[in-house]
Amino acid sequence: MKHFLNFINGDFVATDKTFENRAPVNNQVIGLVHEAGQAEVDAAVKAARAALKGEWGQMSVVKRVELLYAVADEINRRFDDFLAAELADTGKPRSLASHIDIPRGAANFKVFADIVKNVPTESFQMATPDGGTAVSYGVRSPLGVVAVICPWNLPLLLMTWKVGPALACGNTVIVKPSEETPATATLLGEVMKKVGIPDGVYNVVHGFGPNSAGEFLTKHPGVNGITFTGETRTGETIMAAAAKGVRPVSFELGGKNAGIVFADADFDKAVAGITRSCFENCGQVCLGTERVYVQRPIFDRFVAALKEKAEGLKVGPSDMPGVGLGPLISAEHKQKVLGYYAKAKAEGAMVVTGGGVPDMQGEFANGHFVQATIWTGLPETASVVREEIFGPCCHIAPFDTEAEVIAMANATDYGLATTIWTQDLGRAHRMANAIEVGLCWINSWFLRDLRTAFGGAKGSGIGREGGVHSLEFYTELRNVMIKY
Ligand code: NAD
Repeated sequence: MKHFLNFINGDFVATDKTFENRAPVNNQVIGLVHEAGQAEVDAAVKAARAALKGEWGQMSVVKRVELLYAVADEINRRFDDFLAAELADTGKPRSLASHIDIPRGAANFKVFADIVKNVPTESFQMATPDGGTAVSYGVRSPLGVVAVICPWNLPLLLMTWKVGPALACGNTVIVKPSEETPATATLLGEVMKKVGIPDGVYNVVHGFGPNSAGEFLTKHPGVNGITFTGETRTGETIMAAAAKGVRPVSFELGGKNAGIVFADADFDKAVAGITRSCFENCGQVCLGTERVYVQRPIFDRFVAALKEKAEGLKVGPSDMPGVGLGPLISAEHKQKVLGYYAKAKAEGAMVVTGGGVPDMQGEFANGHFVQATIWTGLPETASVVREEIFGPCCHIAPFDTEAEVIAMANATDYGLATTIWTQDLGRAHRMANAIEVGLCWINSWFLRDLRTAFGGAKGSGIGREGGVHSLEFYTELRNVMIKY
């Protein structure tokens, strides 16, 4: 039985309070997680504060960048360990984790090391009222101790997307991974130790949200800022905690993303793109599509084509050849998703495909598998059209005009992402301007350049991560004005 320990001040720390970590593919216990209490969180904050004043705080940018490159190289050297840990925790297809989760997890350290090494700050010269001259320039210093609160859907990737820039900017971090996926954050502790990141710079505390490590950490007065990816409702709670001490937050929250397909789109590419955006990672991607709008002339043909794709997805564990749909993360999440499947029927949906659980054999019958599901025929007010489900499902509705589909796509409190399919360049630009989201993909989905801004509008987030945008949160920009 594996034990997932906290990582505090360079040491792995056990506690006497543990909880089970279960594999989503068969619901078997694969490890025990050592829950951090107030004492462990206090110790992690103390270590992180001390590290800011120690060797790490004095280190040159060049040396810091070298260390972050070493972190990325060591993750790549231990690629198979990280991959195995992520697969055990999430049950996602091996092809997905080996192409996205682990390589991107490593790349995040190099990308932000390069940005911090090369980014300029502003400088202005001006005339002063007395006829003299003054010059001002910006200096960036670290924010301090950063709490990093992570979800379970892309554990290593989303965690390093925060830890990479935080460390590159000279901060120290305390990571609270999701209680569902403790493994890769713990493994990263070994990597940090091995490459010589000073003790206290990277810490991990395990546990839940309320009355556990998450709450203790976000309420801790020794934490200077909180970066969080997860549900919008959790974001509201964390924001209230951050109000005490007026501490900054960076939030990547939920979504109810629209996918829009115009009649002039390249049909096959649009079907393939929407298949990915609806069903990749078993629908557990914040950027995923749960509302599809298809222009009326191609509506019936598109529904039939997406149905065929959904039914063609092989359901199974990570290593099954050709697997396209893994399990949901937990029994609890499966209940939630199946609850929405029932609600869709109760609200009068036409079930195009799916709507239940697949017939799994042997140990996998206990896994958290659900069918890829497509509905049509619901009004825009239906629960499954309004609320984030975070499962492999979508509702498809027809539309006639650009104005109509813009109104439907924007009629939500969320504003994370969209994927739009059209071959009309003018229309693509008009749509990109009109849609209220942080991320707008045209004829693509989840295509990422790590130098660009990433984040959500409206209820989907606060702030932007990626490229130089990450510096806004992870540094304090000081202006120095010199009169001469
Ligand atoms: P969640 O909000 O339930 O949990 C996220 C993390 O917050 C976990 O580590 C959890 O333990 C912690 N937490 C919960 N309550 C807390 C509290 N009161 N104080 C401090 N910490 C607390 O989210 P989840 O179920 O892990 O992830 C799925 C959600 O994340 C979806 O809504 C999805 O859209 C969103 N998400 C958004 C993005 C994005 O980039 N916008 C990316 C991935 C996931």
